[in-house]
Amino acid sequence: MEGKRIAVIGSGPAGMHSALLLVRKGCKVEIFEKEALPGGMLQYYLPKFRFSRDGIAPKIEKLKQLGVEIKMETEIGEENPLQEIVEGFDAVVFAPGEWNARKLGIEGVELENVQYWLEFLREYNEGKIESLEGKEVVVIGAGDTAMDCARSAIRLGAKTKIAYRRGKEDMPAMEQEVKGAVEDGVEFAMHLSPQKFVGQGKLEKIVFDKTSVKDGKVEKTGETLEVKADLAVIAIGQQPNPNILEGSPFKSFEELPEKVVLAGDLVNEQKLIAIAIQSAAEAVEKIGKMLGD
Ligand SMILES: Cc1cc2nc3c(=O)[nH]c(=O)nc-3n(C[C@H](O)[C@H](O)[C@H](O)COP(=O)(O)OP(=O)(O)OC[C@H]3O[C@@H](n4cnc5c(N)ncnc54)[C@H](O)[C@@H]3O)c2cc1C
Repeated sequence: MEGKRIAVIGSGPAGMHSALLLVRKGCKVEIFEKEALPGGMLQYYLPKFRFSRDGIAPKIEKLKQLGVEIKMETEIGEENPLQEIVEGFDAVVFAPGEWNARKLGIEGVELENVQYWLEFLREYNEGKIESLEGKEVVVIGAGDTAMDCARSAIRLGAKTKIAYRRGKEDMPAMEQEVKGAVEDGVEFAMHLSPQKFVGQGKLEKIVFDKTSVKDGKVEKTGETLEVKADLAVIAIGQQPNPNILEGSPFKSFEELPEKVVLAGDLVNEQKLIAIAIQSAAEAVEKIGKMLGD
């Protein structure tokens, strides 16, 4: 593998770890990162109150010292096609994460003050939301990201509720994340499925269908509930962003050539830092075998 040119797309935990392993094997490594700061979700989305950014810069410094080239603010897609990277390198570690919120296709979703978690958490971390004092915030969803949104809203002074279509026992969030939200004072409204967002340009209330769960399936009871809200944050999941394929002949991630090895959240069932790092090691091993290491 010595001397081989490897491109790494994304500077999240998977990208950084694979770059470290590859440069240690004597490869010439270039990281392509669309944002101005490295670190992926750790830089932009994990709430600052529970995750310090202090550990990111030393890791990047170390990569640079070892000879890794890092091209920041270089988004792969229409302007910098993936195809060119594929042609210009011996192999590619493809670790762009899943920077696309899962969408909720209901009436009123376009209203002002209806946001997805991606926008809300980034603005929170960048200090762009001054205060939500006296406001009522409803977070839709009950995963770890929903807990982080609710706990962030509470810290901005809002009265905050998590609304979920199943029961408390079905919440996908990890136990310690739910515990943190409860301790922070987040309220939980269970068995509610959002039907529509209502307001004149700006959100005023959310109409929910009341639900029950039968044999694991969510069913509407026929009753509705109106909840006043100044801000709704939709946190029902993440998905890959297909923009990265624009300007290239590949129509889907499945169509990528063999020398493009996927790593991180994009391929991992469990979206966790440790799993992203583990998948980076697996990607490097696969590249090693491919290049005759
Ligand atoms: C709110 C929140 C809280 C979390 N809390 C925890 C936690 O407590 N513990 C835990 O273990 N995990 C947590 N996670 C999950 C963890 O952050 C991810 O599993 C991990 O960051 C995935 O690493 P990755 O390298 O695959 O992708 P990412 O960290 O998403 O990094 C991908 C990188 O690729 C870049 N990129 C994307 N598209 C392009 C492109 N077209 N061109 C160039 N670059 C591109 C992005 O800018 C980004 O820097 C949390 C996630 C969220 C959203």
